[in-house]
Amino acid sequence: MYDTDVLIVGAGPTGLTLACALAARDIRSTVVDAAPAGSNTSRAAAINARTLEVLEDLDVARRLVKEGLQLPRFTIRDRKRTLIPIDFSVLATDYPYTLALPQSTTEKLLLDRLLELGGEVIRPTTLTSIVQDADGVTAIFDDGDTVRARYAVGADGIHSAVREQSGIGFRGGRYAESFVLADVRLRGEAPDDEVILFWAKAGLTVVAPLPGGIHRIVAPVADAPEVPTVQLVQELLDSRGLGQGQMVVTELVWGSRFRIYHRVADTFRAGRLLLAGDAAHVHSPAGGQGMNLGIQDAVAVADALVDVLAGAPESRLDAYSAARRPIAEQVVALTDRLTRLATLPGAARPVRNAMMGLVARIPAVRRKLAWQLSGLVYR
Ligand SMILES: Cc1cc2nc3c(=O)[nH]c(=O)nc-3n(C[C@H](O)[C@H](O)[C@H](O)COP(=O)(O)OP(=O)(O)OC[C@H]3O[C@@H](n4cnc5c(N)ncnc54)[C@H](O)[C@@H]3O)c2cc1C
Repeated sequence: MYDTDVLIVGAGPTGLTLACALAARDIRSTVVDAAPAGSNTSRAAAINARTLEVLEDLDVARRLVKEGLQLPRFTIRDRKRTLIPIDFSVLATDYPYTLALPQSTTEKLLLDRLLELGGEVIRPTTLTSIVQDADGVTAIFDDGDTVRARYAVGADGIHSAVREQSGIGFRGGRYAESFVLADVRLRGEAPDDEVILFWAKAGLTVVAPLPGGIHRIVAPVADAPEVPTVQLVQELLDSRGLGQGQMVVTELVWGSRFRIYHRVADTFRAGRLLLAGDAAHVHSPAGGQGMNLGIQDAVAVADALVDVLAGAPESRLDAYSAARRPIAEQVVALTDRLTRLATLPGAARPVRNAMMGLVARIPAVRRKLAWQLSGLVYR
């Protein structure tokens, strides 16, 4: 006797997307989350074209587009000098841009859609143990409740209990630096239609517009404070050649510290337990891919589960892992390259910039980067 067909552990963007995708196809699922309420912070604020494409069928893409800010360009610069301009507007998609939207809004719109489809999130309840047998999985929660399901998906983030209990390895490492994340109001030359990745001796800085006249600043530092101040963000911009009147911080709207890892799970499937999103892969935020990959995993694992529950062989679940894991590895490698190139020591920078200048003149290279960052390469 099953309580549900699919137990989804975690109601972040990955778990919510999966729940919507299953509900839209009349599959019974139960979504649980340890937190008493959904997060109200902006965290991953870039939605790429491929994510919007996969959310179209769930009737979520148009809702996100309505709330978000369309950014058709992404450039890599060394101070004011453009090294690589990337133009999304030429891409063959209905969404030729990066959509800037706080993660809290993305999660809210996904939850709204889930409720419309008749679903819900049970919270707060923390998974403490999950075991599987030949016919299903049994999950136990901190309040003593148990759920019996045919399959379970760990969408429970970087410290995934499902991954740990399944025994799946999570290899990789941690970057020495931590990242300052700040949503600020700026005066000066801050662009409002472009994501800029600035490379400087002192480290990389991402400046990206968000809805409501806010700009997101992301910068690696040796030891970021838990919450940055206006003064710290200004000092970061100044030391990286973006201050001195060019960008003046007038208000901190939200700020946080972010430590980053580069890890990929050894497999996304162990029997009846599956992994998706940060539970399966984590990487540098350079390039803004994290949440996007998770949402795309969710749609892919939903397709696989729908097939298996309709009678397809379980090897269909291996196909999910085999299709998505290499993509996660590619994204980890791409974002790792961007992060390391961006934080090269001073002496190596002129060579890097000269190389980038040459590379940037090759249209095929720019197209490839646009294709990768938009996620369309993974169609
Ligand atoms: C401060 C911060 C800033 C970030 N900034 C960026 C950024 O700028 N760019 C970017 O690309 N990414 C960023 N990220 C990462 C991004 O937020 C994640 O990639 C994204 O949230 C992954 O979604 P997910 O649904 O896979 O996992 P999560 O969003 O982590 O959701 C996992 C959910 O599982 C629940 N959960 C965990 N354990 C259990 C359990 N045992 N039982 C029940 N529920 C459980 C949690 O409560 C949580 O709601 C940031 C993350 C943080 C924390």
